[in-house]
Amino acid sequence: MTAQRLNVTPIDVGYLGVRGAGAAFAVSPGAAADATVLVETGPAVCLANLDAGLRSVRIAPEAIRHVLVTHVHLDHAGAAGHFAARGAHVWVHPRGARHLIDPERLVAVTRAVHGSRFELEYGMPMPIAASQVHAVGDGDRVMEAFDAQAIATPGHAKHHHAWVMRDAVRAHVFTGDVTGILLPQGTAATRFLAVPMPPSDMDAVAWRASIDRLEALVDAEEGGGRTVTLWLTHGGAASNARAHLRELRERLDEEHALCESLCREGLVPDGMPGPAAIDRYSAWLWPRADAAGVRPEDRAAFLGAAFMRMNLAGVAQEIAR
Ligand SMILES: [Zn+2]
Repeated sequence: MTAQRLNVTPIDVGYLGVRGAGAAFAVSPGAAADATVLVETGPAVCLANLDAGLRSVRIAPEAIRHVLVTHVHLDHAGAAGHFAARGAHVWVHPRGARHLIDPERLVAVTRAVHGSRFELEYGMPMPIAASQVHAVGDGDRVMEAFDAQAIATPGHAKHHHAWVMRDAVRAHVFTGDVTGILLPQGTAATRFLAVPMPPSDMDAVAWRASIDRLEALVDAEEGGGRTVTLWLTHGGAASNARAHLRELRERLDEEHALCESLCREGLVPDGMPGPAAIDRYSAWLWPRADAAGVRPEDRAAFLGAAFMRMNLAGVAQEIAR
């Protein structure tokens, strides 16, 4: 049965200590807060912020029984195990399930990319009992009151779902990282969309197909009389879904092409970006961010050397496959 009205409440998790940098979403049908589900959890290190944010909107964190995650990267699902320890069930792409049950490899990969910043930015996830992890296939619908549907959207990660939840008049699409990252505290005038292309799954061809799929979804939902909102985990919502997807496609194409050419010029030997690659990348990226009005501190935090190294390593691995 489709709910009359789903309420979506974004909760800022305080990711990287920056307001607007990362969210989880509390979704409830009507006024029944006890039936609230959580989409995304933020990283483990931000759990206290998320709990406080839930309580501030009168949702008891301990009462959450279902958590849906778009993918298992630790800024999205890092605290899922903490909710599972309180009794929640976690719904995830089949390829992500084993990483929730045994996060060891995920932790190792994240540490390899983020080094000493791991503890500060992510924190340790808790393993989840297999009986509380539910793998959801592409197109499957779960949780009737929310009409939640998993849409496989690989590109940023192989195990990525966008979650659609529908009520009578709206389709809420929780897009994780597949629709990019809006830098925090942007406005309509200073919007800047970043495209995270991390190891080890980055796949531009799959990503473009995922954008096609989301565009078709928007067409179908709007054709069915629903307005569509894309809820990005990082940076806010996009109520003009079509315009957002168009911009995303352009940004992906141009930034991927740049990273690819730097790799092909030999500036990312063995997947390790050298200083020349970072110089060239920043000379390309930062003027664009500056022109868009991105604050210098946000540019440093979100588009700095760590971001560029991640993208170059991701694309280098993609080319080597
Ligand atoms: Zn991610």
